[in-house]
Amino acid sequence: METCLVTGGAGFIGSHLCDKLTENGYKVICLDNLLTGSKKNIEHLLKNPNFEFLEADVCDPINQLTSQPIDFLFHLASPASPADFEKIPEEVLLANSLGGLNVLKIAEKAKAKLLMASTSEVYGDPKEHPQKETYWGNVNSFGPRSCYDESKRFAEAATYVYLHKYGIDVRLVRIFNTYGPRMRKDDGRVISNFINQALEQKPLTIYGKGGQTRSFCFVSDLVEGIFKAMFTDGTKGEIINLGNPEEYKIIDLADKVKKLTNSNSEIVFGNLPPDDPTQRQPDITKAKRLLSWEPKVTVNEGLLKTIEYYKSLSV
Ligand code: UDP
Repeated sequence: METCLVTGGAGFIGSHLCDKLTENGYKVICLDNLLTGSKKNIEHLLKNPNFEFLEADVCDPINQLTSQPIDFLFHLASPASPADFEKIPEEVLLANSLGGLNVLKIAEKAKAKLLMASTSEVYGDPKEHPQKETYWGNVNSFGPRSCYDESKRFAEAATYVYLHKYGIDVRLVRIFNTYGPRMRKDDGRVISNFINQALEQKPLTIYGKGGQTRSFCFVSDLVEGIFKAMFTDGTKGEIINLGNPEEYKIIDLADKVKKLTNSNSEIVFGNLPPDDPTQRQPDITKAKRLLSWEPKVTVNEGLLKTIEYYKSLSV
């Protein structure tokens, strides 16, 4: 049986990936320090003999992280919400820089295939729209989002070095806004905020005027893309955007959430945080070509599933 190590395996995306890997016959070691991940997300897997939970920090010395052979390594460990960038910026910096180097070293030693999770944030406030993998980005190196954007860019540069210097079998996926069950209720991101505000009949908080756009991918689609990026031939050394090109203005998203939850909440407008990207949409031509992948879940369907999840938390 082949073994996968998933860093950040108790997190929102990581835990869904652990589900998919165990369902597909892999042994899974889930590594998480539970800073933003939660044991609740993997509770149902703990009784599975092919699943092991290792409570550790990806920044720990690597001999403390691996004691058994690993065939596939997925590096997903990192806080990823702008609210985290404010609260725990050093942990964000380290998970992607030191943590990123650690997983590269583990992959090299173990001769494991590695998938490095990067982000649409490497494009910053993009001047190219939609964003292709070839775009270099428009990123502020000295601002509130820099801890995340620049440490992910460091992880990309480190990946390049390990690919070219040591020939490791690595691919990079740039993940665009993803949502769905298991996203923390207090995560601070727009979909979890809007749904929970709407369900509690509290005002929906739009930052700025709401004309900024994002494109939202449901978690099952994203995890399918991650799975294919690892297990499809011909992905070594490739950078692949993963996201759903369905693009919305934040104000339209607020209306949609209100309708789908039958909420009477009012909409209030606050300050736009500095460096908040004005537009974002993935160009997924490459993922379609290389992986035969594209998202299947519409935003309406995905929102309804997510609404059900948050409702189930309160019963
Ligand atoms: N946003 C908002 N209200 C909220 C949370 C976020 O208007 O309660 C906006 C935020 O300013 C950004 C967009 O929604 O323009 C997406 O924010 P999120 O934090 O979900 O992710 P980002 O793509 O910025 O990392």
